[in-house]
Amino acid sequence: MTLNCALTFDFDAMSVWLGSYKSRNPSMISRGEFGAIAVPRILSLLKKHRIKATFCIPGHTALAYPDIVKKIDAEGHEIAHHGWVHENPADFDEAGERFNIEKGLECLKKAAGVTPKGYRSPSWDFSDRTIKILLDYGFVYDSSLMGADFTPYYARIDDGFDSVSPYRFGPNVDLVELPVTWLLDDFPHFEFVDKDTYGLSASSKVEEIWTDEFTYARKNVKGGLFSLTMHPQVIGRGHRLMMLERLINKFKRARDVKFTTMLAYAQGWRKANPLDKWKASGAPQAQSACGRDRL
Ligand SMILES: [Zn+2]
Repeated sequence: MTLNCALTFDFDAMSVWLGSYKSRNPSMISRGEFGAIAVPRILSLLKKHRIKATFCIPGHTALAYPDIVKKIDAEGHEIAHHGWVHENPADFDEAGERFNIEKGLECLKKAAGVTPKGYRSPSWDFSDRTIKILLDYGFVYDSSLMGADFTPYYARIDDGFDSVSPYRFGPNVDLVELPVTWLLDDFPHFEFVDKDTYGLSASSKVEEIWTDEFTYARKNVKGGLFSLTMHPQVIGRGHRLMMLERLINKFKRARDVKFTTMLAYAQGWRKANPLDKWKASGAPQAQSACGRDRL
């Protein structure tokens, strides 16, 4: 059984500085413009290695750089939904959250004629309604939660939690969760924002961490998904792209590793692990069924 490897690129451009950081500082916002310089470099690298990747793109970026988004699609890469202006869904009421999803869909359609089947929330933030909304809009997978490392699971709705009661697991629903981790995200390792995000790491350190995570996954999680989350405006710097190419070469040398897009992997996993069968397998993320039965 192989380990699957997905290279994912969140093409946030200016939206992350406007939405997540709420900046109105033209210099800070201009960092995002570098994303548009970096995407063609990334596309060349992917073409050279014949790898199809996943690009998560906010609607705001699709309107700012429609030609680049078209090129990403034309070169056969997956495009996933990544919000409207990199907003935190929890900052909105239900109508506002639905508006942001619809606006993101509309912009990707307008820019590249694409209707995404995958979703990654901006900064991996969620509201307690997000999964229900994703189901309503027909998404196949989400890639924002952190309940596992290399093993997918079905997302849950209606978990109950506070700081004084036992955790209450809600039911699993038919939305594949492809989990993520900040450890395998270039942003906190490399980006400098302020005293709270003081990245600027040597690429050698990140290469060591990512290599060892990959090696562990390959040895211990057969059939799993090793995914890297990268941002063109971060990974697109020369020395980091050189690191990425060294990693790609390492991954390619491992014969039991297959590159995939997030959507292709999610669809294959869902087919092989239908929700009812998966729930009966007693996966830790399916506590609603198992836990209540034991009470
Ligand atoms: Zn993002």
